[in-house]
Amino acid sequence: MGAKRMRVLVTGGAGYIGSVVAEELLQAGHQVVVFDNLSRGHREAVPKNAELIVGELADRNHLDQVFRLRVIDAVMHFAALIEAGESMKAPEDFFRNNTANALTLLEAMLAAKVKLFVFSSTAALFGNPERTPIEEDDPLRPTNAYGESKLLVERMLAWFHQIHGLRYASLRYFNAAGASRPDQGEAHQPETHLIPRILEVALGRTEHVNIFGTDYPTPDGTCVRDYIHVSDLARAHLLALHALEDARENSRPLIYNLGNGQGFSVRQVVEVARKVTAHPIPVIESPRRAGDPAVLIASSEKIRRDLGWQPNFPDLKTIVESAWQWHRIQPDGYRT
Ligand code: UDP
Repeated sequence: MGAKRMRVLVTGGAGYIGSVVAEELLQAGHQVVVFDNLSRGHREAVPKNAELIVGELADRNHLDQVFRLRVIDAVMHFAALIEAGESMKAPEDFFRNNTANALTLLEAMLAAKVKLFVFSSTAALFGNPERTPIEEDDPLRPTNAYGESKLLVERMLAWFHQIHGLRYASLRYFNAAGASRPDQGEAHQPETHLIPRILEVALGRTEHVNIFGTDYPTPDGTCVRDYIHVSDLARAHLLALHALEDARENSRPLIYNLGNGQGFSVRQVVEVARKVTAHPIPVIESPRRAGDPAVLIASSEKIRRDLGWQPNFPDLKTIVESAWQWHRIQPDGYRT
């Protein structure tokens, strides 16, 4: 299955998840062209054997040139703004970067007759779900502009599939976390995600971590999330790509939720990190962050059934340990 060697354009391949997937593609024998504007990503995160093109997805001429000068078999689209909290302050940035730029990319792909697309989607599509674990066909009602900006892309993809025969996978990540290697990990600037924020405290870089909201309808009042190791996420992309390649022309889109099916509250994550780091990690209880759903837990039964995916690192302690190794060795991220 998926034996053909492909050349894959990886947008956002200098970012946290994209760079891990780029590495895995290379290891599987594919060629990788990373397209990234380096606004949030890091040149050093791009695997050595990948070609790096620094460019803007909004620049259609540049994209056309990229497709004209190379035979690209598939596109994996990671490049995006990802912070839900930020999206509730500047939604326009998310609709521009995530929605409009995806359309430009899709138009360029269609013009170049590239038919395989793997999209980084998100659990934020679901908003406050009616039930957990969340299945793929559950209602899509984002509570933040980030989720909406990605939902609009999923909707475009469905029409591009129906009308232009685009073969695509949409992988809805729950909370990506952990590090694939001690020298490759999460390095957002500024960092807003829970696990790296907690580890900044353990490193002595900040005094405490804020808990955003302690009055949610959850057992301990804090938000519950499903944390998934970045390497497990990455493997799902290769399985999806190979399945798309093997699929018939008009086969159905591959839409999958990706998580471990287990939820941890913010307080529980802090507790695990205290054990891993042997640091007391002081917390300050703070008001809710706008747009945060109370509970997001994935059912990943569909991708297990269809593609035989299963997580190798489902244990939260293992996930936090891998992140801690990265942050301890590279406390300045890729800047050291
Ligand atoms: N969170 C928190 N303090 C922080 C960062 C995040 O309490 O410093 C909470 C956040 O409100 C959410 C959960 O941790 O409930 C996970 O947030 P993160 O930003 O890591 O991922 P998201 O679920 O927004 O994609």
